[in-house]
Formats: sequence, C-alpha cells, structure tokens
Amino acid sequence: MDYLKLAELLFPHIDKTADYYEEKYPPRNLPEGARVTRIAPSPTGYLHIGALYGAVTDERTAHLSNGVFYLRIEDTDSKREVSGAADLFITMFEKYGLEFDEGAVRNGDSGDYGPYRQSERTEIYQTFAKKLVSEGKAYPCFCTDEEIEQIRKEQEAAGENPGYYGKWAVWRDAKLEKIEQALAENKPFVIRLRSQGDATKRIKITDAIKGDLEFPKNNQDFIILKSDGTPPYHFAHAIDDHLMRTTHVVRGEEWLATLPWHIELFSALGFKRPVYCHTANIMKLDNGSKRKISKRKDPEADVAMFLSEGYPQDGLIEYVLTLLNSNFEEWRRMNPTADKNEFPFSFKKMGVSGPLFDFEKLYDICKDVVSRMDAETVYENASEWMKEYDPEFYAIFTKDPEYAKSILSIGRGGNKPRKDFGLWKEIKDYMGFFYGELFAPQYVFPDNFDKNDIISVLEKYPSVYDENDDQQQWFKKLKTIASSVGFAADTKEYKKNPGAYKGHVGDIAMMIRVAITGKQVSPDTYAVIRILGSDEMKRRIEKCRAEIAK
Ligand code: GLU
Repeated sequence: MDYLKLAELLFPHIDKTADYYEEKYPPRNLPEGARVTRIAPSPTGYLHIGALYGAVTDERTAHLSNGVFYLRIEDTDSKREVSGAADLFITMFEKYGLEFDEGAVRNGDSGDYGPYRQSERTEIYQTFAKKLVSEGKAYPCFCTDEEIEQIRKEQEAAGENPGYYGKWAVWRDAKLEKIEQALAENKPFVIRLRSQGDATKRIKITDAIKGDLEFPKNNQDFIILKSDGTPPYHFAHAIDDHLMRTTHVVRGEEWLATLPWHIELFSALGFKRPVYCHTANIMKLDNGSKRKISKRKDPEADVAMFLSEGYPQDGLIEYVLTLLNSNFEEWRRMNPTADKNEFPFSFKKMGVSGPLFDFEKLYDICKDVVSRMDAETVYENASEWMKEYDPEFYAIFTKDPEYAKSILSIGRGGNKPRKDFGLWKEIKDYMGFFYGELFAPQYVFPDNFDKNDIISVLEKYPSVYDENDDQQQWFKKLKTIASSVGFAADTKEYKKNPGAYKGHVGDIAMMIRVAITGKQVSPDTYAVIRILGSDEMKRRIEKCRAEIAK
C-alpha cells in the first residue's frame, strides 16, 4: 500500500507538516523542574466543583514549580456546546483567584502556544492525522453506524470483546482501490488508529496520584478523526498536550479507562508522554452511602451556587485544599496567618479514593478565613457579593463605608478573632440592627426576666452612661445598677448564693443588649454603643422601655 498516496488522497488540503508545528511550538524555555499544567474544560454548561478541584491542583502544581498554568477550551463537540460557557469559566476562575499564565481569554487567546480553543485547531489535528496515515499508522474507515452495530451484534453472539479491532476491523487492510472507490462515492469516513497493541499483554505506568498502575494494552483501532474532520478527546489530548508542552496532565479518574489508548497514541506519534495525574472524584453521602456528586441532582456540583450563597471564594479554595492535601489543615493550624499559596502542595498527599464533600467543614473553614481578614477586606468582599445578590442591603451597607467598616472591626485582629459569620449573606443578619432602616426589634428577653426589672434598668442606664468611660468603667456602672435593683454585682457571688438575688450583672448587660440590638446574641454591647453613638443608644433604650411598659 502506498501510504503517502493515501494520505494525499484523504488530506489534499493539508499542506503543513508535523515538523512545521514542532518548530512553531518549541519546547518551553523554563527552569529545571518547572511544570506545565492546564485545565481543559468542555464548554457544555456550568463550572463543576470537580473542575475547580482540578484547577486548584493544576494551578498549585505549576506555580509552586515556577511553571506555566494555562486554559484550553475543549470545544470540539459543537452539539453539546452551551453558548457563553467558556466566558463563564473564565469569569469563575478569575473570581476564585486562579490566574492563568496563558490560554483562552474572552474573545481570543493570550500566549505563544495557541490557538487555545480546539475548534480553531482542526488543521493541526489533520496534519498529524495525515502524518500517521502516511506512515501506515492510521487509516480511513467507511463503516456506517449500521455496520458498526452489526459488528457489535456478531461479537456479542460469538462471546468476543466488543469494539473495532483485529479481524473485526474491516477497513484496516482495505486495498487502495476500495478506498478510492468509497471516496469517489463521497461516502463519509472516519480515521482510525491502526493499533499495534496486543490485549493479552500488559503495560505499566506510574500515575503521580494513583501510583503504579497496570493495564492490558490497547488493541482497539479507535477513531482519531470523526467524519466531520474533528478529533475526539483522545487524539486532541495527545496533539494539544504535546504541542502546548504540558508536562503534567491532571484530569479526572474517569479517563483511566482510556489511558492505554493515550499511551499508544503518544507512542505512535513519537511524542514524549506527560506525567499523568488522575484525581479521584469528589463524593457525597446520600442516605448513608457514598456516591459521586451529580451534575443533575446536587446543587453543590455548580461552583456558581457557592458564589450566590455567599461562600467567600478563599473559604471554598481553602476547603478544596483540605480535600486535596491531607496535611493542609495541620499546616493551616501551624500557620494561621500565612498566605495559602505558601502551603507546599504535593501530589503525594493526594488521596487515591474520592474525598467526601462536607458542608459543615466548609462552613467552619469559611468562618476561619473571614475571621483572619481585616475589616477593609471583609467590606470589599462583602459589598461585591451584596451588589450582585442583595442590592437592597448593598445600598444601606455602602452608604457610609467607614461606619460599616467600624462595625466589621468589632472583635477583629488579635490572637483569637471572633468568628461571627462565615458567609457574606449572614452579614445582614449579624449587623443589620446598626441601621435604622433595618432595626425592627421584637424585644425577646430570656424567660426568667421580670418586666418591671427591665423597665427600671432601662430607666437608670441612660443617666449613668458617660461617653468617656472605657469598657471597665462602663461595666462598673452596670454593676452599680445591678446592686440597686437587687441583682448581684458579681457573677461569682451570685453563683455562691443564688437565692439572695434576682439575678446578676450579666442579666443587666443582657437587658441593655436586647434593648439596643433587638437580639440576645450580638457583637460586644460596649463596642456596639460606641459605634451607634450615645444619642442613638438613648433613643433605642427609651423605645424599648416604652414598648414593654405598654
Ligand atoms: N475536556 C475534558 C473534560 O472536561 C478534559 C479532560 C482533561 O483534562 O484532559 O473532561
């Protein structure tokens, strides 16, 4: 068979050569040990939490090694493509602080190894397919769907493995004349790899996450170009990751099944294989049993849900890091204020089986992350969230930024910062009472409080209040009020002899807290009063007194 002739027959329009592309995309000039990674989503919908998980792995791997992290859009399947999905991915990666060094950007590309959208790379794939045909390593197959189905049925009846291989590969050894005739009849065709593999033999490969793996060799003459001239995933993966000089391919474990295909492809193409890093799928508990997070059933599959629910981006990323590396949490405990990017991320610490997604843990991490931020950062992040998801509160919150920040400063800084909220959406409930527009108190006091005691405390309090008092002096005055209404000035004293008092100074503080904030749980009352100012505080005390005296 004259393979060169066949290649010309099949690809008359391809005038470039593999060498042309090898030169156009030379090996990268990077320091020793630098890793090149990519995230390669298919724009078929929203950004899945698994893609974020993979992207963090890629980004950390590349950037900790002074390498390159890039974005490739795998859009060869135009039927499944959702318009706007690629831009949405770009926006989401931006929001989560995953910075690409190169790759697809809105309306184009950035970098020397593009195009970074597979739909713009057809000519490149065809050039390499032509090369394989010209070397006798690939061939056209004109089988119709019905013929393929017929082969499958016969294999089933004969108890043989399904697929297009060996004696079942009916076009594998077709004569040139037969091919020419089919072409003359304009029959659609695909290009298949002429597999050299023997499925009774095994191959070994070391995966950076899964460790040593062993598989039967591929023997399938799988498709490398579809009848429309575009490649399925497998061929595009080999060509793109080679020409873009990817060193580490991080992808979901669902690709392990076809890894022998990829190994054979790299060898047929004469490419050096990248290091494979197959990540385990994130799981969830459903009625006591573990299952994969499902795109259809689970809202947490969609990363956008975490944004709209107000999870701080850094909180979700830190949580993903805890899922990815078993020692992240311990590192965070030892380095509470360090930038998360200082963490020595490693494949070795990645689990072989899928981690369980745990909302409670995520929430705790979000609380920690927010508690470590300064008031300015909380203000910036929270207002950005409110602008999109709670515009009403956004208007109130941003009217006086300094006022909002002074509230957010309560309990911040120091060794044990308060952890009052973990989600941006909780801020309104946490501090809404500071704003007249939102202050709608129900005045619910603990059950054992007597109405008349509350009234007399609220009567006495404004007259003893002095703006110049520090927190201790302020509390001392509460003690004086406590004694004057038959409450213990000292909590210990009360505990020793509870029968002798109506209550203790803590109860007095609670009365004032409820009157001023409308809640039994609030930020520190003294701090609240300082921010509200004495006039507003007095108005609120009087409003409460009048209300319960009714
Ligand atoms: N487009 C593929 C996917 O979304 C990418 C797999 C890979 O990273 O190689 O699953």
